[in-house]
Parts: sequence; C-alpha cells; structure tokens
Amino acid sequence: MKILVAAPLHPKAIELLKSEGFEVIYEEYPDEERLIELAKNVDAIIVRSKPKVTRKVIEAAEKLKVIGRAGVGLDNIDLEAAKEKGIEVVNSPAASSRSVAELTWALILAVARKVAFADRKMREGVWAKKQCMGIELEGKTIGIIGFGRIGYNVAKIAKGFGMRILLYDVIKNYEKAEEVGGKFVELEELLRESDVITIHVPLLDSTYHLINEEKLKLMKKNAILINPARGPIVDTEALVKALKEGWIYGAGLDVFEEEPLPKDHPLTKLDNVVLTPHIGASTWEAQERAGVQVVEKVIEILKQ
Ligand code: NAD
Repeated sequence: MKILVAAPLHPKAIELLKSEGFEVIYEEYPDEERLIELAKNVDAIIVRSKPKVTRKVIEAAEKLKVIGRAGVGLDNIDLEAAKEKGIEVVNSPAASSRSVAELTWALILAVARKVAFADRKMREGVWAKKQCMGIELEGKTIGIIGFGRIGYNVAKIAKGFGMRILLYDVIKNYEKAEEVGGKFVELEELLRESDVITIHVPLLDSTYHLINEEKLKLMKKNAILINPARGPIVDTEALVKALKEGWIYGAGLDVFEEEPLPKDHPLTKLDNVVLTPHIGASTWEAQERAGVQVVEKVIEILKQ
C-alpha cells in the first residue's frame, strides 16, 4: 500500500511506515493541483497544518482510506467531504500537551521577571537593573482557564512552584483537580483572584473574545495574562489598551488574531508583553510523538 506524506514528518514515523511494509511517497507541501495528482493512487495521506486537503483532493483520491494529521487542528482538512466518502481522519491531539505547557511556563517566567525586556536592553548596552523589578510566583494564585490536556500539565508545574491553583472549565474533572490541588471556581472569581491567568480552551463560538475589555478590567493590576491557545480567544484591541494603560502587569502571547503577527503591530511596541510565533508544539519531542502517534493510527486503520 502507498502512503503520501505531504509535510515534514519525524524520521522515526517514516521508518515505522517503511518497517510495516508501506511504500512512502514524500513531497513537502504540494499545492492543490499537485496534491490531486499525487493522491490518486494512495491509501493514506499524512499532513500537518499544511497542505490543505480539499474536497477536490478527496474526491480525486479513489483508493484513499485515511487522512492523518500529525498534530491537533483539523482546519486544513475538509471533514465533510471525508465523511461523505467514508474516509477516516485521525490526529495526535495529546502529542504536544507537555510542550505547550512548558512554553506557557517560559512565558509566565519571562513576563514575571522581564527576561525578554532585560535581554533587549543588554543588547542595546543598557544595564536596566532598576527597570527590571519583577514578581515572585511562590504563594501566588494561578488561574487556569480550560483544564484539559494542556491545562492539567500547566497545573502540575504550578504545584511545583508552590502556587494556589484555581480552575475554570465547562467540564469538571475533580479527580485531576484534586491531584494537582486545584479548585474549580466561576470565571469571574478566577479573574478577580489570580496573579497569573493562563488560557487553555479551544477556539469556539463560546470562547471567541472570552477575554474582552470587561474581563480585563476584573483582573488585578499586577496580573499576568498568558495566551498559548488561540488568538481570537482574546480581544487584541482591548488587551493592547489594558497593557498600555496598566490595567494588568503584562502578557505572554504565543498566538494571535492575525498570524503571522503583522510587523509594527501595536503589541510589538509594548515592553510588558512577551511574544512568540506560535511555537507551543515546536519541540523535537512533541514533533516525534505527533508523527509516531498519527502513523500508528494510520497503520491500524489500513491493516483492518
Ligand atoms: P483539551 O480539549 O484537552 O482541553 C480544552 C478544555 O477546554 C476542555 O477541558 C474543555 O472542557 C474546555 N472548554 C471548552 N470550551 C470551554 C468554555 N467555553 N469554557 C470553559 N472551558 C471550556 O485541549 P488542549 O489539548 O488542552 O488544548 C487547549 C488549547 O491549546 C486549544 O486552543 C489548542 O488549540 C491550543 N494549542 C495550542 C498550541 C500552540 O502551539 N500554542 C498547540 C496545541 C494546542
């Protein structure tokens, strides 16, 4: 059987396919026309967040049984078209949870201790010791919005920091909450009481601009807001206002309403925000797991 790998995949995942006797065709990010051509004779297609597996591709792929996405989001796959043709779609949603949680902590610490700001100043030849007074985390409260895979990993680390943990989620996993010493509260209470607020919900109608001007105004003046989930969960315009006018202490953002973040965006002008280019899952370990886990699922389906 033939498998088209249409995006960079960890070598271990490719090895696994080959060792199971599959023929691997590799082409990085083909455009739609090329993908239609390549997909014609394959049993499976494996992608990442690119390329787009459109209806046209799916309809042209006569032998296709499964589409694998190494990673989480399925927005680049026409799920409706796949369903109509009985093609299974599999992904590896848990592969990057720990890595995203660790980046969350990198952002929390970078904001609390002004690491990025201090580094910028050092490179300008400025010894900015006085401007770099920060915040200690032990004994403070962290509010975790979305206590799923990533939220849970963030909480495990928070426990090690000796922080009080507040949780907000529409589904309450009390067993996991107890394990990390966290307490479920309403969103308003979490926003009012937390020194660090970190977002780990998916982007849905119910979470679009969940953090808006009104919610930012509920936060403490010394609060740190972290968004490593999806850009549109935070109203950027309101956040820029909050950061400029000092309603909160600072923010750490890995995701944006517009990606890539436009050059000269107002956020890039502020010293109390740390920005990273959507790198939550960008670790060797997460990429290896994402590749291997999705390949295992694809193999299982093809061997049925
Ligand atoms: P998950 O599904 O395991 O957890 C999400 C949690 O949010 C669930 O417990 C769910 O009940 C809760 N939730 C859903 N809607 C809610 C609402 N309206 N109010 C309160 N809680 C709600 O997801 P996860 O794997 O932990 O991922 C969380 C987020 O991280 C997602 O937005 C995902 O897109 C993002 N993510 C970012 C990166 C990155 O590179 N920065 C990488 C992977 C995932």
